[in-house]
Amino acid sequence: MKNVVLLGPPGAGKGTIAARVAQKAGLLHLSTGDLLRDEVARGTELGKRVQGIMARGELVPDELVLALVRERADGRRGVLLDGFPRTLAQAEGLAQFLPLDAVVYLAVGKDEVVRRLGSRRVCSSCGAVYNLLTQPPKESGRCDRCGGALVQRPDDAPEVVARRYEVYERDSRPLVDHYRRLGLLRTVDAARDPEAVAADVLKVLGS
Ligand code: AMP
Repeated sequence: MKNVVLLGPPGAGKGTIAARVAQKAGLLHLSTGDLLRDEVARGTELGKRVQGIMARGELVPDELVLALVRERADGRRGVLLDGFPRTLAQAEGLAQFLPLDAVVYLAVGKDEVVRRLGSRRVCSSCGAVYNLLTQPPKESGRCDRCGGALVQRPDDAPEVVARRYEVYERDSRPLVDHYRRLGLLRTVDAARDPEAVAADVLKVLGS
């Protein structure tokens, strides 16, 4: 069993890479962004609480995301954490209930992530992710999988992307050093196509 964290700035490809790697390595893919978006879409109490925070590109309080992860990581299966932890406090909270085997840092520069997020589109019905430049749908504006309408995530608007990047630099980048000091960090060049990046991540994990 392996418990793995994927670190990297917004737009590094964490969601895409995590889905591929989790499937190949038999890990449970836990994306706190997806879990929170689902709460918002269902209009739950939690969803109402976090909707505005997410729309502004700020971070949801640590204890809320820690509770989401703790509920789902039951220890019976290795987990691949995507978008979590994002603060040192979350990393410390996580260490109380889940021992980590590796932390993979998806390294990619700011210009590239801004370009990627500006051209990202998601299916409004099944959540599939596209990129107008690198992974366009077959038919413009329609999901290949289910025919749903493709939309831009509200937090992919340029002014929110800028804020998310600042928040990443301030709150999440320190995790790179934190996990390096713990001897867990493995760095993968993420400025390449998703197949190549996923293959490298699998290699690093020894799967
Ligand atoms: P993501 O899909 O990972 O880009 O996350 C989208 C948004 O969800 C973020 O901009 C935050 O508002 C919120 N979020 C996701 N994961 C976390 C986390 N670990 N801590 C705090 N907020 C989070």
